[in-house]
Amino acid sequence: MWIGIELTASFIKHGLFDGQRLIHREVTGIHNRESDRLIEQILQILENARNREKVRGIGIAIPAQVDPDHHEILESPALPAIEGTGFLHRIGEQLPVAVTVGSDVQMAAWGEYHFHPEIRQIRAQNVIYIAPEFPFRVGLVLGGRLYTGTLGLAGHLGHFSVSPEGPKCTCGRTGCVQTWITPAGLVTAVQSVLWKYPQSRLRQIRIENLRPEDVFEAARFADRAAMEVMDTSARVLGILLGCLTNMFQPDAILFGGTVFASNDFFVQKAWNHAREIAIPRASRHCVLLHSHLKYFAAVWGAGLLAMQRDATARKSARSSRKTRPRRE
Ligand SMILES: [Zn+2]
Repeated sequence: MWIGIELTASFIKHGLFDGQRLIHREVTGIHNRESDRLIEQILQILENARNREKVRGIGIAIPAQVDPDHHEILESPALPAIEGTGFLHRIGEQLPVAVTVGSDVQMAAWGEYHFHPEIRQIRAQNVIYIAPEFPFRVGLVLGGRLYTGTLGLAGHLGHFSVSPEGPKCTCGRTGCVQTWITPAGLVTAVQSVLWKYPQSRLRQIRIENLRPEDVFEAARFADRAAMEVMDTSARVLGILLGCLTNMFQPDAILFGGTVFASNDFFVQKAWNHAREIAIPRASRHCVLLHSHLKYFAAVWGAGLLAMQRDATARKSARSSRKTRPRRE
């Protein structure tokens, strides 16, 4: 049995993975975001699991890009305390089982690639997983393998600028993708256009309570502020999807996360823009799918990856025993 864990800004999700199923799923609140306290919570999860089953390894999905070879976590706005090298080193020292760490979006992509029924049905080899949470990243499975890049940074597209006239981003540049198509980006975009629409129903919602679902709902009722924001966001996402389609010729693009899960119309609108710039044969070939594993996608992927690393380690241990020279 292997444990899959996903760290988010507020929760730790986990489940026990038996090779085919994710059992004993649980979501617990994060008591303290300091890295030592997070490690304590993970140790507690491990201890509880060991009371039930034999645990062979843990996979941990982290809300950031991870360079696994250099044991470094890069830019994690959700959990800034884990950035740098300390968290991964300490977790390796303190956990008494093998630990596999990766970015949440990459783990989710890997889980979906293996367990999404339609991905299996079409025998997809090249899949792009998009969940526009913050910071914005995509997960890539290319040629049937999880592609993370040499430093683990592949798919880090949040600061990909699609328009020099766009809104100012936290990175100091303008027009970055994540200023338009993350939940926070949509809310900021609404804020910036509301002055033009005194009749907008979105004015009735306090800005701190505004969610992407409210914007989509208002757009359904032809609210002009919501429609303007949605049109712009869909165009930006469309540019990105068009570029990704031309670059990787995916068999499928998978949409996860809260923004897309709540709105098919938005995804279709973005795809219409993408098809204007994508190579027609490549866009016709690609299918659009919603997440199958949904809320636990990264936990599935983390458990699966932990199992696969464990299998590789055992195989290489067996072959090194076989090749060890015998004493005469
Ligand atoms: Zn930026």
